[in-house]
Amino acid sequence: MAQTTPNHTQTVSGWAAHDSSGKITPYVFKRRENGIEDVTIQILYCGMCHTDIHFVKNEWGITMYPVVPGHEITGIITKVGSNVTKFKIGDRVGVGCLAATCLKCEYCQNSQENYCDQVQLTYNGIFWDGSITYGGYSQMLVADQRYVVSIPDGLPMEVAAPLLCAGITVYTPMKDEGLLEKDSARKRIGVLGMGGLGHLAVKFAKAFGHHVTVVSTSPSKEKEARERFGADDFVLSTDLTQMQVSSLLTPFFLFLSLVLVTVMFEYFAWFN
Ligand SMILES: [Zn+2]
Ligand SMILES: [Zn+2]
Repeated sequence: MAQTTPNHTQTVSGWAAHDSSGKITPYVFKRRENGIEDVTIQILYCGMCHTDIHFVKNEWGITMYPVVPGHEITGIITKVGSNVTKFKIGDRVGVGCLAATCLKCEYCQNSQENYCDQVQLTYNGIFWDGSITYGGYSQMLVADQRYVVSIPDGLPMEVAAPLLCAGITVYTPMKDEGLLEKDSARKRIGVLGMGGLGHLAVKFAKAFGHHVTVVSTSPSKEKEARERFGADDFVLSTDLTQMQVSSLLTPFFLFLSLVLVTVMFEYFAWFN
């Protein structure tokens, strides 16, 4: 059993990768006691983000094994610290990618903690007490209230989980571009790639009333894009005639207000 710092007294069951083979196996480890700013969460669901796979396989070369992945966490609060005012026992909550930040820099002061240069992640991070953080592929989590969000009653916990990483990743650029305001004019939005991020981008963009074109290397995704997610158009990126407006040979991208790129550029023949 992993032993960390002295105040890590709580035994938790979870799943961890122990090497770069790509396998995760049951793993028992310790979490810290619930501090005055902390809440303890009984984890009900945890999304699987591609980042989890990168860390499990050490594809970025920074994995600290054993790694317990998972940063799209939803659950119920079972304990609150004495300084916790935002939450109470029984609340439905979620935790995304952040475990700790400096709290002092301009980003932390402006609710942009994700840009803090001392950010520590929900897993594979180093918390202020020196312990390595473990993520949501586990029974429970102790989290600083600052990085915990409420899940509305009408939103099922299992569908809320992926919003905490994939969802916020595509929601933020739309918000920054003013596409989510009630009176924002209908825009033409391109979504490159329709995997975990892309399908949420399509659903957000449609929910806010925009015209959505999915660009994908996979012809098999057209039916799903149009029928399940409501995309208006589908362009196969490997077909150059589809990637151009034929009369002018102009890239159709020029007719889009915003292009959300959810894949690495090299996947698209157009950019090669
Ligand atoms: Zn993620
Ligand atoms: Zn900071």
